[in-house]
Amino acid sequence: MRRAGVYAIGLLFLFSAGLLDPVEARQEGSDNSNKLDTSVRRLISDVNPERISKHLFHLAKDPLPYRKLNLTLPGHEKNTLYEADDYLAGQLEAWGYRVEREGVQVQAFRRDTSKPKHAQYSPPKPEDPWYTAYNLYAEKKGRSHPEKIIVVLAHKDSPSWIDSPGAYDNAIGTVGVLEMACVLAEYTPESTIRFLLCNEEHTPWTSKTAAQKAKARGDDIVAVFNLDGIGAKTAEQTAAGKKTNVTAYTKPEGKRLAELMGEVNARYSIGLEQRTVERSQPGDDDGSFVLTGYPAAVINIGSWPYGDPNYHAEGDIPETCDIKNAAMTVQATLAAVVTIDRGL
Ligand SMILES: [Zn+2]
Repeated sequence: MRRAGVYAIGLLFLFSAGLLDPVEARQEGSDNSNKLDTSVRRLISDVNPERISKHLFHLAKDPLPYRKLNLTLPGHEKNTLYEADDYLAGQLEAWGYRVEREGVQVQAFRRDTSKPKHAQYSPPKPEDPWYTAYNLYAEKKGRSHPEKIIVVLAHKDSPSWIDSPGAYDNAIGTVGVLEMACVLAEYTPESTIRFLLCNEEHTPWTSKTAAQKAKARGDDIVAVFNLDGIGAKTAEQTAAGKKTNVTAYTKPEGKRLAELMGEVNARYSIGLEQRTVERSQPGDDDGSFVLTGYPAAVINIGSWPYGDPNYHAEGDIPETCDIKNAAMTVQATLAAVVTIDRGL
């Protein structure tokens, strides 16, 4: 449906410019559509659950059980979040990306054990230590319209107030973004595809700085996909073998992205139980972009409301993650990104 819309606009322009007769134009449209399909099918078949699993266990179990600024493993020089940063940057660089680091001053949350387990984060006091947290950026410059930017992001840190490995929240989204970068390493996009690994379990969220700096530069961000808790769902859904994804949006521009997720899931037979939800207000790292004036921003998440029984708890471990489900969400996001890229 979306492709038809994009072609319709493109074709209208070409007719009015007297550049194509209708038969030629239809031919051209379907050629482009076939090329897009071939390209998407090839890319999504490259998504590799074993690689996703390997990175997930590295970041949420061994050698790094956590990714937080306020925890350094015994005998190690760097805190666990910096170690994770080095690992992630090393992978991206091995695939040919140049990685940029953007430092942001943050604090760890305090813990309030009187609150429910999933919500025990509480604001730090001014005298608590400050740390530099880094946003990591890698991108593929667009060939035709480098100024148009599609952002794919995930927060890479684990909860700073509790010793939770944060496997679903959000090592899984982090390795999902990493997998997309890996698969797209040899792809030449028409527009720029920017990967951002940020921090959201310390305060303030570093996605806010990322969005504000993009706005100050005048970046033309046409779509933002946040991967957070991909494949995470209720115990009942997991037991029933469900493969779920929810795309939540705030603005009409985000709704179009959410609908595209459903279209590509069907078109490429990805097999997700895919649904869309309108958020009552901007939230999570996609919300940082909405609040800064980039309304085409969505989150892909396994359930809504979030159903992971180990949310923000010590039991959020990689062994509970549905890697196959996460890989399917990566495939659908990849298909959506490439479809947008070719339609711009
Ligand atoms: Zn969280």
